[in-house]
This record gives sequence, structure tokens and C-alpha cells, in this order.
Amino acid sequence: MKYTQPQLPYANDALEPAISRRTVEFHYGKHEKTYIDNLNALIEGTEFEELPLEDIIRDSKGALFNNASQAWNHIFYFFSFSPDGGGEPEGELREAIDKQFGSFDNFKKEFVDAGVKLFGSGWVWLSRDNDGKLFITQGSNADNPLTQGLTPILTFDVWEHAYYLDYQNRRKDALEKLWDIIDWPIVEGRY
Ligand code: MN
Repeated sequence: MKYTQPQLPYANDALEPAISRRTVEFHYGKHEKTYIDNLNALIEGTEFEELPLEDIIRDSKGALFNNASQAWNHIFYFFSFSPDGGGEPEGELREAIDKQFGSFDNFKKEFVDAGVKLFGSGWVWLSRDNDGKLFITQGSNADNPLTQGLTPILTFDVWEHAYYLDYQNRRKDALEKLWDIIDWPIVEGRY
């Protein structure tokens, strides 16, 4: 099975000013496409060819894990956004956030802080376990909470390629602007 890159449900300039057209073109159009192309080349003719991407992420190491996880992570990241996004989460996810982090504002602060403090390239995640307990985790490179038995709910990409064209060294500013474009109904559905 060949993986194909899903088309984004918004125009390349629709997330401005949080994420520029140029960053979407490079980050989704080129970086993400390369991970998918590499993944397809690595699984061709192997036992992984017919597996769901999530299974490849859980069962692989090295270059295959890196490209499979990066392919999955970027789709998950870009499909968390909407030009009509922002505001605050509602429903069961909101109740869990308030209960565990005290308030939505405090959750946002802890989440961005985890991204800012991650040294080098990686991802910050909000995930849940099988009991619905929430976790903020951070990890380097192609990190994915699926490998820890957690279900991902939200992620921020903290590789420099995610923000350098728009924010240069200002990672904290880049992450804080993402709250303006989060598609909360989509994210709530993952909880
Ligand atoms: Mn990226």
C-alpha cells in the first residue's frame, strides 16, 4: 500500500498570521511530502507494506520509525487547525483539562512551556490514557505517544522548520499564536 498525502482542508494562506502561506508550503508541501515519500520507499516489498501507519509507528525503529512517525505527526498537526479556529475547548475534554490543570489558561501555559523547554527538535503532546487521564509529554525528533500506549489529542511541532520562516528564534511566540487557529471540535473528538 502506498501512502498519499491528504490535501489540507484549508488554503495555504488561510492560517495567516499564525502560520504564513510560505511556511505551510514548505512545511506541509515539502517536509511532510518527503517523509511520506521516504516511508513509501522504506516499506516497499517489506512486511510493513500492508500495515496501518499506527502499527508501523509502534513496531519499527530507526529510519522507518522516523519517517512513519513524522508522516503521521504532521498530518495530525496540520489537521488540528482551522482559519475559523481558536477560542476554548468544551465538553468532556474541557472538564478533564480544568480538573487536571486547574484552568484552560494554566493548561496553555504548561503546554507552551513544555514546548519551549524541549531542547532541539521534537514535539509537545497532549494525550490521554485508557482511563481518560491527560498527559502533557515532550519528546525529541519523531517522538509519538502511541509508542507509550497513549492516545494523542493535540500536538505542537517544535522543530525549527515549523516556525523559523515566520518567527526565527522566537519559539514561544510561534507556539502561543497556534492557540488562535486550533480547531477545538476536531481536537475534542480525539478525547
Ligand atoms: Mn515539522
